[in-house]
Amino acid sequence: MATHLKNKKPLHLIKMNIKKGDRVVILAGKDRKKEGTVSRALPQANKVIVEGLNVVKKHIRPQGQTRQGGVIEKAMPLHVSNVMLLCTECGKATRVGIERRPLGADQKVRPVRVCKHCHKVIADHTRS
Ligand SMILES: [Zn+2]
Repeated sequence: MATHLKNKKPLHLIKMNIKKGDRVVILAGKDRKKEGTVSRALPQANKVIVEGLNVVKKHIRPQGQTRQGGVIEKAMPLHVSNVMLLCTECGKATRVGIERRPLGADQKVRPVRVCKHCHKVIADHTRS
């Protein structure tokens, strides 16, 4: 039985507490305690890419005339458990709670992310 298969849910049903544009602090690896901005969220892998952090050097071999050789730096994905969200209100690294609150111009009640320290709504850069 293929019980080891993880996350076969469709993409829109996968929920991750960290989104693109969030400021996070890294908890593990060579860049631990550093802060950065999430440039990409990969919900199916439960990973995020943080701009300019967890960078590895890749040695590229020149291929014909189209690709130049050399060393490029590439930000590798980090597991969400190895990063912590920085609250947009109090600036602390926090766990994330989900609450239903009226939000936006229409004051419609939506599930939003809240900080466990100051209980304020954490700004969501993917939503305008
Ligand atoms: Zn806070």
